[in-house]
Parts: sequence; C-alpha cells; structure tokens
Amino acid sequence: KGPDPDLVAIAERMATVKHKILVLSGKGGVGKSTFSAQLSFALAEKDHQVGLLDIDICGPSIPKMLGLEGQDIHQSNLGWSPIYVESNLGVMSIGFMLPNPDDAVIWRGPRKNGLIKQFLKDVDWGEIDYLVVDAPPGTSDEHISIVQYLQATEVYGAIIVTTPQQVSLIDVRKEINFCKKVGVPVLGVVENMSGLRQPFSDLKFMKPGAAGETDATEWAMNYIKENAPELLSVVACSEVFDSSRGGAEKMCHEMGVPFLGKVPMDPQLCKAAEEGRSCFADQRCSASAPALKSIIDKL
Ligand code: ADP
Repeated sequence: KGPDPDLVAIAERMATVKHKILVLSGKGGVGKSTFSAQLSFALAEKDHQVGLLDIDICGPSIPKMLGLEGQDIHQSNLGWSPIYVESNLGVMSIGFMLPNPDDAVIWRGPRKNGLIKQFLKDVDWGEIDYLVVDAPPGTSDEHISIVQYLQATEVYGAIIVTTPQQVSLIDVRKEINFCKKVGVPVLGVVENMSGLRQPFSDLKFMKPGAAGETDATEWAMNYIKENAPELLSVVACSEVFDSSRGGAEKMCHEMGVPFLGKVPMDPQLCKAAEEGRSCFADQRCSASAPALKSIIDKL
C-alpha cells in the first residue's frame, strides 16, 4: 500500500507554510478564538505573512472576530482562496460556507474530518510565515484528525488557552497530555479572563433597594469627582474566578510546560472581538493588549 494520497496532498500544500501553530482549549468559551484572532492580527502587524484557519466546526466565530461576516469563499484553479483582512492576513473558516450564520453544524465525525482534510489540502495560502489554526475545544475527533493530517508536515507547536478555574484546568491537563502523546510541542499555556480589569471611570454603580437595583452611576461619579478625583485614574480589579489554588501557572510548573502569561478580562477586548478589530492599535484595550503582546512576543 502506497502513501495516503490525502496526506501527500496536505504535505504539498503545507510546504509553503513555514510555521503551523495550533490554538487549543479544554473547554469552549475560554477565549481560544479571541486569542487566535488577536495572535493573527499581531503576527500580521509584525509584517509576517499570516493565515488563520478556523476549524472550530461547531462554533465558527473567526469570521466575526476578523470583521468578515457574510463573505463568500471563491475558488480559483489554485484552490479555495482565503478571505483577506489585510494583504498579509488571510482567513478561512467553515463560517464562510454556512448559508445562514444561525445554522447549527451538526455533522458527524467522518464529514467533519473530510472537511478538515479539505481545508488543509485545498486552501491556497501561498507562501506564508504562520498558519494559526483555531481548533475546536476538547480532545475530540477533530483534534486527532487535524494532528494526524498535519503530521504529514511538522507542527511548530500548540498554545493552550484556559481560564483560571479548576474546572477548566482539569481539561487543560488532558489537552497537554494529548499533545505529548501525539508529539506536538506545547509552546505554552495562556491564562485568559484572569481577573477583571476596568478603568474606574468605566464602572457602573448599582444601588440595591426594595424594588430592585437602580442605576446610581451618575450619583457615584459626581461624588467621586468632588471627593476623590484621583480614583478616576486608577484601574479597578476583581478576581472573578477562584484562582486560590495557583491557577494555570502552578499547573504548568507541575506538568513541565511553559506558562506564557495572564490576560485579564477586559470589556474593551470583548468589544474589539465583537467588532472584528485588532486590540493592539486600540488605546481603550490598555488592560488586555499589553498582556497579549508580551505573550505573543515570547513565541
Ligand atoms: P472560545 O473560542 O474559547 O469558545 P471565545 O474566544 O469565543 O471563546 O470567547 C468567548 C467570549 O468571551 C467572546 O465574546 C469573547 O469576545 C470574550 N472574551 C474572550 N476573552 C476575553 C477577555 N480577556 N476579556 C473579555 N472578554 C473576553
């Protein structure tokens, strides 16, 4: 039996991609797609040629996070053309193929695997420095297949995104073990939503009362302006999730993988993601953008 023709085709296609980075998470909703999107923006802003491949087949959020909702994919004789945000940042997502963004994708394993294979084989990325792959959460069929397919070529490494709670960290341990088992180097773990940081001046104040809460923001802000104006320039922080057991950093230490850093919960980052923008050029993202930048600079 000769070599698998699909694997040969994938290896040929991937020959023009210098580094493949997998972005993984144990659970959904921890910020994996947000990180993949901002990582791609950051690499492109450093003048690299970047591709972003979204294979989170059940919940493709990359088109929205890159400001590309409602776009259609075009085919040329070289394959499927990515949709370009900038001339050096191309994107491919299952989301572009759904006639209606509200359609739930409820495909079973073989069909999902077939599509992933096609994504790896048929997208015309051209010569690129980085391919960022936003993988589905968990260690499911899709992971095993993408890793198997990508093993036809060398994977630069995986970044695992988590939140600080134990329930998310337990799944990260599984994800790290999965990478070790299949031989994908773990570039490191990012602890996202690591506390809430918000400029004091953006806070809302609610006053509890018998009839429910009422908005007391105007009253509180006037009070602060008169009595303690210096508070307006501080950043309010809240732990939100219980990280008393050491969070991701301690787990990385125990498992012998690099800890890349913490990104706080930042309403402005969420807004940038909703609007499909890079957070790095946005002054309002001052709570999260420097943290993301220092993580990305370590890669
Ligand atoms: P996942 O890909 O892990 O399912 P997403 O990246 O889709 O998670 O993030 C889930 C939601 O949380 C999105 O609305 C996203 O904008 C928001 N989010 C992610 N990280 C942060 C953060 N650090 N601060 C604020 N909102 C965030």
